[in-house]
Order: sequence, then structure tokens, then C-alpha cells
Amino acid sequence: MLISIGRKKKSVRDACLSEKGLLDAIAAKIIVCRKCELWKTRKNAVPGDGSPESQIMFIGEAPGYWEDIKGKPFVGAAGKFLDTLLSEIGFARQDVFIGNILKCRPPRNREPLPDEIQKCTPYLDSQIRVIQPKYIVTLGNYSTAYIFSKVALPFSGITQAHGKFYETSILGMRVTIFPTFHPAASLYSAKYKEQLIRDFGTLRHELEQKRLV
Ligand code: URA
Repeated sequence: MLISIGRKKKSVRDACLSEKGLLDAIAAKIIVCRKCELWKTRKNAVPGDGSPESQIMFIGEAPGYWEDIKGKPFVGAAGKFLDTLLSEIGFARQDVFIGNILKCRPPRNREPLPDEIQKCTPYLDSQIRVIQPKYIVTLGNYSTAYIFSKVALPFSGITQAHGKFYETSILGMRVTIFPTFHPAASLYSAKYKEQLIRDFGTLRHELEQKRLV
């Protein structure tokens, strides 16, 4: 049975736990997860961070060196740039939720393997179900490919997909997906940095129109 809690519909079981409690319960599972081999090399799992009430969720690829050490997403150089982009659209990081496709760092920051994505993404799906964001901003190829695959949108690379709004349903909820480049791309390419800044401008305009910022 679904009952209404604020703007959200929840099962009776979920309604008994706060969103923060539900996210903490997911994080507790992630921290002890051994479903793939990455637990052997991680220092810390990185479940994700931010407001459980957020209407906007940012999804990156996987923790890097600093995220693995601190157990928090986007705390390295790419994260500093993400903080700047967030402040340009009127948010501090604690106002939004930031997560990743993989919750543990791949050795030497190699790309996620299909098996790792398959085993880890049920955690992300659970986080999306709890947060029920109105907007999902995918950062880079991996998160865009995963989210597009869930909503049966064809994906032929972030260069084609970025900077546009895709209104769809995910996990039974209406959501708008907004893909953009991964903030790490800005560290080695001025062109990607400019495009990220432009995409966040587009996002700010949309959120202002919807009075979400
Ligand atoms: N890159 C990501 O995709 N996620 C992080 O948390 C950090 C860097």
C-alpha cells in the first residue's frame, strides 16, 4: 500500500523510516559490500552524500584517490570544480545529493567493469527510490549510459547527449535527466570546461523557471 508523505508516495514500511534513515541503511550495506572484487583494494566505500530531500541528484562515475581516503564523493580536484559549478547554480553541496555508479574506487582509477556496474548499481537505484529527485544530472559517459539504459534511451556518447533535458520515468517516477561532461574532463580540456559551464548555465535557467533554486 502507498501512502502520501509530503510530496512523496511511500510504502508503509518506508514511511516509518525517515529518508535519512533509509539512506543510512543503504550506506551501511555499501560499507560492508563484497559483491565484486573492489572491496579488496578500497580504503573506504563511498556511498554518496548530501540532502535526502534534494530535488536534484548528481551522479558521477566512481571514487578516485581522495574519495577512497575520505569516504566522500567528489572531494578531489574534480570535486572542487563541481563545487564551483554548484555554487554558480545557487547550490551548496549539502543542498543536493551526490552519488556515483560505483561505490568503491577501481585500482589506479581504471574504468568501471561491466560486472562491477551490474553488481553495484542496485545501490544507486535504491538511493534514487528514496530521494525521488525531480532532476538527475549525469556526469560523464558511465553514469549517462547507465541511466539512459534504465529508461531505454539510446546513448551514443556524452558529446551527443549533453546539455539537453530528457523527460522520462525511472523506477516508476517521473524525472528529467540532464547529462553533462564529467568535471574531471575540465582538468585536461578547456573545451570541456567551457561546455560544462555552459551546461550548468542551461540547468540553472531550467531550475529557475521551475522555481527549484
Ligand atoms: N569522480 C567521480 O566520478 N566520482 C567521484 O566521487 C570522484 C571523482
